[in-house]
Amino acid sequence: MKRLPELTEQELRRYWSHVNVQGPDDCWPWIRTHPESYGRTRIYFRGSGFRPHRVAYFLHHNIDPDVHPVKHTCGFLDCCNPNHMYLNPPRRESAPFDVLTKEARKRFLSKVNQQEFDDCWLWTGKIHHAGYGLFKHGCISYAAHRVSYFLHTGIDPGPTLVCHTCDTPLCVNPKHLWLGTDEDNTRDRDIKARGPVGGRHGGVKLTEDQVLEIHARLATGEGCTSIAKDYIVGRAAIAAISRGVTWTHLI
Ligand SMILES: [Zn+2]
Ligand SMILES: [Zn+2]
Repeated sequence: MKRLPELTEQELRRYWSHVNVQGPDDCWPWIRTHPESYGRTRIYFRGSGFRPHRVAYFLHHNIDPDVHPVKHTCGFLDCCNPNHMYLNPPRRESAPFDVLTKEARKRFLSKVNQQEFDDCWLWTGKIHHAGYGLFKHGCISYAAHRVSYFLHTGIDPGPTLVCHTCDTPLCVNPKHLWLGTDEDNTRDRDIKARGPVGGRHGGVKLTEDQVLEIHARLATGEGCTSIAKDYIVGRAAIAAISRGVTWTHLI
């Protein structure tokens, strides 16, 4: 199976324009172009076809499912909600961190901007478009914070998510990382999104009106970077709005 390339903004936009993003527990149907393509749909990136749900899995977990089937808990083959997917077999292969050599570990640490123990340690290497640090070893790209978790705790997170207490995807400070289940992560996100939602939330810079404007601009095909500049927020914030990760109460 061909490895998924790192997707450009334009490719990502094309991908998400085909996904009917719903609530975190709902199915996110792939909007098919052919009525009889159920379960056989492909999206093409640079000449290679990929099953849409596998792309969603990759974008969410930052792990290329590679040779492993990505199965659905909902049984709906065209569903692109990563919360409805699991790898079969459940992978240890998702994070075979024990293959990291001494040199690789050294190389990893050289890309970490180590600070005081309580501060965020930002990743200075390659960055995944979802905002996470990427560490390449062999032909596999690992999420940097997952590698950091492994290097400092000795625990291979396997198929389990490694979450941030600091909400800074680029942070690899092991003190800010915790091992959560998919459920924990959703709950954590819900708690953070709960209470005063959207524009009334303490740390949020965008207003609801602005987010609606942003959605309108995204719908015209405008890129995240130029929109981010206008609103003086990070590109990742716009990408998250575009993917329906944040401000979901407005969608
Ligand atoms: Zn589903
Ligand atoms: Zn942090």
